[in-house]
Amino acid sequence: MAASPVPATKGRILIVGATGFIGGFVAEASLAAGWPTYVLVRPGSDCPLKTSVIEALQEKGAIVIHGVINDQSLMEKLLKEHEIEIVISAVGGANILDQLTLIHAMKAVGTIKRFLPSEFGHDVDRADPVEPGLTMYKEKRSVRRCLEESGVPFTYICCNSIASWPYYDNTHPSEVLPPMDHFQIYGDGTIKAYFVAGTDIGKFTMMTVDDIRAINKSVHFRPTCNYLNMNELASLWEKKIGKVLPRVTISEDDLLAAAGENIIPQSIVASFTHDIFIKGCQINFTIDGPNEVEVSTLYPDESFRTIDECFDELAFKVEKDSEGHDEALKSNPVVEVLPITATA
Ligand code: NDP
Repeated sequence: MAASPVPATKGRILIVGATGFIGGFVAEASLAAGWPTYVLVRPGSDCPLKTSVIEALQEKGAIVIHGVINDQSLMEKLLKEHEIEIVISAVGGANILDQLTLIHAMKAVGTIKRFLPSEFGHDVDRADPVEPGLTMYKEKRSVRRCLEESGVPFTYICCNSIASWPYYDNTHPSEVLPPMDHFQIYGDGTIKAYFVAGTDIGKFTMMTVDDIRAINKSVHFRPTCNYLNMNELASLWEKKIGKVLPRVTISEDDLLAAAGENIIPQSIVASFTHDIFIKGCQINFTIDGPNEVEVSTLYPDESFRTIDECFDELAFKVEKDSEGHDEALKSNPVVEVLPITATA
């Protein structure tokens, strides 16, 4: 495929959800790539962690504007006033439908050159998880249909799994460390998936935003270097920590039971885990439709961070954490050693 056409100027980008997990990677990548970056911050985002995230983005040049996407007149005003050309949304699972109002605002303004809705996972028109994951996909599908109907140009980012340990009972993948006591292997552990570092989700997302080859297309991330099954992932982690851990099978029925408990968000994660590692939802189709493209076809010279490198970093964190615990135990022998939890 031909080299990416380089635009003469970089238009203003609005990122929604920059204080969140995926949105943080996207905002960092936008600033690193030199885009005039505006971040929409919800009023009330004043907890110390969020404040420090916002301040760090501002130091790198981000311009903060306050508002919520489910307020159409406000969004129309902000989009016009700040002459926004590209909008990227990374709202979380609970707020997917808020984007419908944003789409109406973008349609009314009429000057938005590209919208990337909050996707950042599987191709929701193809994947068919059990409930409660299905409800989230139905919402993402309805956002797609509304967007296609609106005429606002779009790109869907289907980046598959974030490069972290895929705990089925996790509430959120951020900062999660792989296990140190035993592995939970889904089914026979042979179904493969694609793992993508958060920084690469940000980097490649930003490469697509003004690429005419990605207009009105789904961009799939399938890095061949990060194509692994659970058994391979476990062996790689064992190599990094220098020890062999017991492997416990989590069967298809176990995953379906966890999904069936309908505890939000853990059961959503269980239903996606079932879809990925039992049904093979990331790999059971080819990318050959007219409205889809694989990201490495667009940018063949750009490398992905390997899962091997990501695991090196996580192993280093484990080592640091255990050094911290050793120090704490020396200074306070009654301190309890906490287990590494599956949740963030
Ligand atoms: P988070 O919950 O971490 O962050 C959501 C962000 O959206 C926050 O900044 C939040 O603001 C903001 N937000 C929510 N509603 C509104 C609104 N109405 N107006 C303005 N801002 C709003 O989300 P995630 O990063 O977990 O999820 C983002 C997307 O990525 C989802 O589509 C999710 O499915 C996907 N995902 C994919 C993963 C993968 O492995 N492929 C892993 C994780 C997520 P505030 O700070 O005020 O709360």
